[in-house]
Amino acid sequence: MKKSASFDAPEVLQDAGFKVTPLRVLLLEVLHDAPKPLPVSVLVRKTKRVGADSATVYRALSAFVEKGIVKCLSLEKDKTSYEYILGKGHVHHVVCDSCGTIESISFCMRNIHASAAAKSKQFKLIKEHSLEFFGTCRKCVRAVR
Ligand SMILES: [Zn+2]
Ligand SMILES: [Zn+2]
Repeated sequence: MKKSASFDAPEVLQDAGFKVTPLRVLLLEVLHDAPKPLPVSVLVRKTKRVGADSATVYRALSAFVEKGIVKCLSLEKDKTSYEYILGKGHVHHVVCDSCGTIESISFCMRNIHASAAAKSKQFKLIKEHSLEFFGTCRKCVRAVR
């Protein structure tokens, strides 16, 4: 597997206050090198060789989410995916509903939290949002024509 030269998983773990374990290092490397969010099933498969079961992988992932290292996404029905976000800009995703292709796009709406809060009756402060787009990718559009 190709490794990114500048990525130091143990350092990221230590900076976030984690103990460096083979699973955490491997998990972070896999997530960091992935060009798109990965479903839990894939992460469990890719970390099998360090002897982790899925419960341990889930626990490690939730801890990463809490520290803002990875983001948890629901891009497919009944499937949770994780994406490395530390040091990356704010992105949203577009998912092709025919072939499952996922693309990250640097796009958001201006003042999205203030606008949402203005529409809300019960909330004064909105801090985060999760917004995904679904459609048809270019390849699939061509295939049906
Ligand atoms: Zn497609
Ligand atoms: Zn956004």
